[in-house]
Amino acid sequence: MDHLWTPWRYAYVTGADNSRRKLGVPEALAGWPGDKHCVFCNMIAAVDYAIEHGMPREQAEEAVYILERGKSCFMVLNAFPYNSGHLMVVPYRHEQSLAGLTLEEADELLRMTRQAERVLQAVYQPHGQNLGLNLGKAAGAGVAEHLHLHAVPRWIADNNYMSVLAETRVLPEMLDESWRRLRAALALDTLEQ
Ligand SMILES: [Zn+2]
Repeated sequence: MDHLWTPWRYAYVTGADNSRRKLGVPEALAGWPGDKHCVFCNMIAAVDYAIEHGMPREQAEEAVYILERGKSCFMVLNAFPYNSGHLMVVPYRHEQSLAGLTLEEADELLRMTRQAERVLQAVYQPHGQNLGLNLGKAAGAGVAEHLHLHAVPRWIADNNYMSVLAETRVLPEMLDESWRRLRAALALDTLEQ
């Protein structure tokens, strides 16, 4: 589970000047005036801003590959994946540890992870899944300040081919396709209450 999420590789994909970009905010949502200096906090704030200013929810959420939103947590596709279907469950609140979440947040994190497990199984039929947390840089967290739970479908003899493909132009199309398939599966799967 080391270094499963590595935003710095995004520079290879886009060739973008990252010094001028806000973390987590794509061009389509660039109208948001703030900057929270956190990829997850920026992502949510920019999506909410766009929706408040008239962008259809579906379009705003697709721009950052948000799959599902609950009361305390959201589910989002990893834009820098090693595997197709690699997604993350993230609390809205900027908190670095599992013990630091409220019981309500921790509860929804787990319920949404169960949902992630179900839709990954339904869409990809993997042989197995990695579900887990890397807490702190030493444990391999790409963004240590804001907890995120990884859900990664795995196959026997899985060769992590995405780590090679991630630097090619095929990646955005693959992400769009993954987002559409998982979103459709989530439309049929209700978060347990
Ligand atoms: Zn944050």
